[in-house]
Amino acid sequence: MISPRTIWAKVLQGRYGCIESFPKTPNVDKRDSWWWKDICWVLQQGNYWLDEKIERCISDGSSTIFWEDKWIGGLRLLDVFPRLYSFAFDPLSMVGHNGNWEGSTWLWQVKWRREPFVHEEGSVNTLIEMLQEIQIFSSKQDQWRWICDKDGVFSVKSAYSWLQHSMGGELSYSSDFILVTKSLWKCKAPIKCLVFCWQVFMNAFPCKSLLQVRGVEVENNLCSLCSLFIEDPIHLFLMCPMAFNIWLSVANWLEVEVVLPNSLTSLYLYWTNLGIYKKSKQCFKVVWVSVIWSLWLHRNGIIFQQGVMDCKEVLDNIKMRSWKWIKSSVPGCSFSYSNWYFSPRLCIS
Ligand SMILES: [Zn+2]
Repeated sequence: MISPRTIWAKVLQGRYGCIESFPKTPNVDKRDSWWWKDICWVLQQGNYWLDEKIERCISDGSSTIFWEDKWIGGLRLLDVFPRLYSFAFDPLSMVGHNGNWEGSTWLWQVKWRREPFVHEEGSVNTLIEMLQEIQIFSSKQDQWRWICDKDGVFSVKSAYSWLQHSMGGELSYSSDFILVTKSLWKCKAPIKCLVFCWQVFMNAFPCKSLLQVRGVEVENNLCSLCSLFIEDPIHLFLMCPMAFNIWLSVANWLEVEVVLPNSLTSLYLYWTNLGIYKKSKQCFKVVWVSVIWSLWLHRNGIIFQQGVMDCKEVLDNIKMRSWKWIKSSVPGCSFSYSNWYFSPRLCIS
């Protein structure tokens, strides 16, 4: 590992055993898990923000490394006193091994491989003064402390806030994008499909061009639906002649006229405002998600089951899925599948 003492390295070692060496630019095997590929990617960024925001909270000192862990004033002693570290008796000793109890009083006693020289005594004294500030408790174990929270407890929310702040304030999303994400979660489609749509909006799903960006080898990066253009999110779900055709067919089926915009965000907002009443708005939203989800499943079928592009099949799946989701979740929608198939506008008006 580059930094075997970092917390995530310890997590990996706990889960996978000791990993003796880890090159700075690890070669990712395409058979590796997504999880491992992400770890490699993070490593290559060289940004150890998590380590920087976590420190040890000392109690009995039995599981915190005296020189190498961050446990005193947010600093590692080896960084503050590199010269003293160079002749420390045991650079990997625990905090609790650098002192003794005399009765109920803890006395610090740092051990050296040699006596400090006169010009080093100032540093030794400073170290001892720093240590005097620390209280050792024999009855409690050391713990981790998350610096970004006043109670020291890690939460995804506080980490997210800190990351936002460190990147120069709130992440700047367009007002349209904020509208979309607020609206999407209220859609009456299955949650796994909503999560997928959200990943599509965030460019965080495994289409070919995004896989390549993440260093994954793909056989070719051409769109699985048309085999003509690069498979990126906007192409796959909107610009692809096949996807474009599907959107127009669905609009035709719903008896609405659409001019397809050039972004999925605009398309979503436009599409979901086609309904006038709450019920019809809900139904249009469900159909939108059904189109994305059905295109994605069809694309996967082409790749993984040697399927072929079949617009009629995609269209039928969109109708069937949207009917099932609407029937089970949108109040006042108990129409039959044949009614939905042949006259959807009558069903939702
Ligand atoms: Zn295409």
